[in-house]
Amino acid sequence: MGVDGCIFCRIVGGEIPAARVFEDEVCVAFDDLEPQAPVHILIIPREHADSLASATDVHKETLGHLMLAAVKIARDKGFADDGYRVVINTNSDGGQTVFHLHLHLLAGRQFVFPPG
Ligand code: AMP
Ligand code: ZN
Repeated sequence: MGVDGCIFCRIVGGEIPAARVFEDEVCVAFDDLEPQAPVHILIIPREHADSLASATDVHKETLGHLMLAAVKIARDKGFADDGYRVVINTNSDGGQTVFHLHLHLLAGRQFVFPPG
């Protein structure tokens, strides 16, 4: 299953390898291939959605679930107190390059705001 040509659907399906750090019935989390911080994890829903911009009321639970997965991972990996950043790049101006909704969970260094 999954959307044809979607690299993250293929990761969910196990056709493309990824270093998984967490998974449950709704989401899969794995290390980003090109980390932008000492910790850089992507959290994606098993079910394909193009981007945050395509979300509707039916995605309410999934979106909450993805956020809470980030909270859990941060606690489990021990960087919750030091802090972290959660980012959802959305569509062209948001810098999205993979069109399967995902959260970036970044940690392990000081981040600046606003991001570039
Ligand atoms: P975005 O630019 O927000 O769409 O983020 C896409 C992210 O996916 C980038 O940080 C990429 O480094 C990452 N990425 C692309 N392909 C893979 C892959 N096969 N495994 C892990 N991360 C990937
Ligand atoms: Zn997909």
